[in-house]
Amino acid sequence: DNPIQRKPAWIRVKAPTSETYHETRKIMRDNNLATVCEEAACPNIGECWSKRHATMMIMGEICTRACAFCNVATGKPNALDPFEPTNVAQAVAKLGLKHVVITSVDRDDLDDGGAAHFAEVIRATREVSPETTIEILTPDFLRKEGALEVVVAARPDVFNHNLETVPRLYGEVRPGARYFHSLRLLDEVKRIDPSIFTKSGIMVGLGEGKEEVLQVMDDLRSADVDFMTIGQYLQPTPKHHAIDRFVTPDEFGHYKKMALSKGFLVVASTPLTRSSYHADEDFAQLRVA
Ligand code: SF4
Ligand code: SF4
Repeated sequence: DNPIQRKPAWIRVKAPTSETYHETRKIMRDNNLATVCEEAACPNIGECWSKRHATMMIMGEICTRACAFCNVATGKPNALDPFEPTNVAQAVAKLGLKHVVITSVDRDDLDDGGAAHFAEVIRATREVSPETTIEILTPDFLRKEGALEVVVAARPDVFNHNLETVPRLYGEVRPGARYFHSLRLLDEVKRIDPSIFTKSGIMVGLGEGKEEVLQVMDDLRSADVDFMTIGQYLQPTPKHHAIDRFVTPDEFGHYKKMALSKGFLVVASTPLTRSSYHADEDFAQLRVA
């Protein structure tokens, strides 16, 4: 029993028991859809699914990368499912979502990294649910010339791509990725279509220092990123990257204050914050503002 891995009181989650939880699960199964909520063993699943907020994970359940924090299986992915765009669109309609978050595994095996498929999913969803705002959480399309443009052309409302951690820790935490590539990707989205909101996030508790977190905020603002999320890293299995420490709720509050003072429009920074956690409320808050 490693005391550092023992969860503090503020990491408390509700058991997934509600009727709506099971309905959400059934809609996902009926439409043959994977969710990051399940694949990442997200602690918020009980709460989110009880509000029908499931974050769909497209392009299969097997990723070509092996990030040290991530519970998604690594290997040779299956072929893309041509019915997936329709299935996502149907599921979003069935869930009756005002705001949907759609993410994917990384597909380094595909020439376009899956960009055309991602764009199809956005279009199909828009067609069936024109009032629903669409947030996508994408891979980095590293070395996939022209891929980003294809996704941006499908006009998601929010383009989210996570930096995940501070640059110093990329080698051990996100070995297949490049910090400045990801940062440039976000900058590019804004340059191509300034009407799209951009969003990014990091996990803390991986060994980063406070000054490094503040630097990431500055980097994101220099790329004109609008929203930021900060949450506690939780080790999915003992094989994954160890937790360095549990960041306290007060520290999260401080990060939030700092991020807002740097000019982000919306900041979510709590221990259980995830990229897609309360994404609907955050977006609604922005529209009212
Ligand atoms: Fe799913 Fe995101 Fe909610 Fe976690 S926070 S259960 S990944 S919607
Ligand atoms: Fe997980 Fe994304 Fe990394 Fe793949 S690229 S291992 S899905 S975090």
